[in-house]
Amino acid sequence: MNKKIIYFDMDGVLVDLAQKINAFPPAVVEQFNALDMVEQLPAIFLDPDPIAGAVDAFNKFCESDKYDCYILSTAPWDAPWVWTQKREWVEKYLGPNAYKRLILSHNKNLCKGDYLIDDRTKNGAGEFEGELIQFGTEEFPGWDSVLNYLKP
Ligand SMILES: [Mg+2]
Repeated sequence: MNKKIIYFDMDGVLVDLAQKINAFPPAVVEQFNALDMVEQLPAIFLDPDPIAGAVDAFNKFCESDKYDCYILSTAPWDAPWVWTQKREWVEKYLGPNAYKRLILSHNKNLCKGDYLIDDRTKNGAGEFEGELIQFGTEEFPGWDSVLNYLKP
């Protein structure tokens, strides 16, 4: 069977970064946000929790014979430690199903595939060749709705 390629974004899709961000004083967050540097808040990517249902959903997709799964995320260029932390997060929470399946890119549109689950259209997500499933919207507010739609 020809498997469909599906990409999973990290922040706001698999990873609950908002929870970590909200732990900082609002004035600090505002400052980092203004510079588009919110991912560079100190230790922001040090072991954030997964989004509710994300790990179960990811495993379901990986174990289905319909889908070939990859993680497609962007890490800040000026914060190279976040690249490592993302790699560590993937191993800790997604385990063997994610082995050598992490892609970090600022040009998500260059990845070939059928579906991209992403909460934003930034870094090429909006120009992805397949179908963008925009996570956190009215249509796809959470993992149940994505599972319902793609039926792994
Ligand atoms: Mg995101």
